[in-house]
Amino acid sequence: MNQIAKSISLEILEKKKQNDIYVIAHYYQRDEIQDIADFVGDSYAMALAARNSDSSVILVAGVDFMAETAAILCPGRTVLSPEPAATCPMANSITADKIIRYREEHPDCIVVTYVNTPADVKAVSDVCCTSSNAERIIRKLPADKEIFFVPDQNLAANIANRLGRNLDAYPSFCPIHNLVTEASIKELKEKFPQAEVLVHPECKPEILELADYAGSTAGILNHVVEAEGRDFIIGTECGIFHPILKACPEKNLILASEKLICPNMKSITLDKILNSIVERQTVITVPEEVRQKAVLALEKMISMAS
Ligand code: SF4
Repeated sequence: MNQIAKSISLEILEKKKQNDIYVIAHYYQRDEIQDIADFVGDSYAMALAARNSDSSVILVAGVDFMAETAAILCPGRTVLSPEPAATCPMANSITADKIIRYREEHPDCIVVTYVNTPADVKAVSDVCCTSSNAERIIRKLPADKEIFFVPDQNLAANIANRLGRNLDAYPSFCPIHNLVTEASIKELKEKFPQAEVLVHPECKPEILELADYAGSTAGILNHVVEAEGRDFIIGTECGIFHPILKACPEKNLILASEKLICPNMKSITLDKILNSIVERQTVITVPEEVRQKAVLALEKMISMAS
């Protein structure tokens, strides 16, 4: 880290302490942002951290649906986003109207909604999920019910394969994880035959077939930390390298594709975080009638995941 970044980091640490601002960051954030955060985790852990914190102001270093999730779970508290334009193309591919129309044609279906969605989509859903708890939640749903899973077709297909249960998936995907190819995994496996292949379930099903382990970002991190091996081919966003190497610097991490960089996650910078703290901007709010419905789907996820 250069001198300027160091001095901005120190200023952020001082100001967030003075102003009782709790900073939560996603594992895909830049290294220096993870280092100034009070909590770093995947989207499920971030939601719990926001809900369980007692700070009156929560700053979310992540894409827009993560800040919205904090606003839904923490009414009466101020949720700040340092870069409200940081968004998720997959989350934006689904709308509440599309779910309402689907329900009209499938009145008995259960709508399971990935947390990577806008608040109004959560509000018309039965239960939310993240990649770390989707399988557990779907296992608990009645076997005779039709499930509409939105919006990640890869996650849906991967869960369906594991559970042997049909899920009707909305046709969308993460544009970053979808870039991992069979060719690149095979090429890396030839180069590093001793390496374990660890991938995120937002990757395509054929990628999971080549993997030794598939799990959420937190799952991948824990797997590497606990594994005895040294070499790992990692099929998720490159930000995960930082917490893994902090925990075990001796491990050799190989990115499954050089394209595994989420530009939206990386659009957040230390400068923007400092500005957000100083200016108290941008405050993220969710209309109360939407929040009251969306919180039911999120709380149901939390209770079913535990
Ligand atoms: S990594 Fe994929 S799912 Fe996550 S924010 Fe970026 S585009 Fe969305």
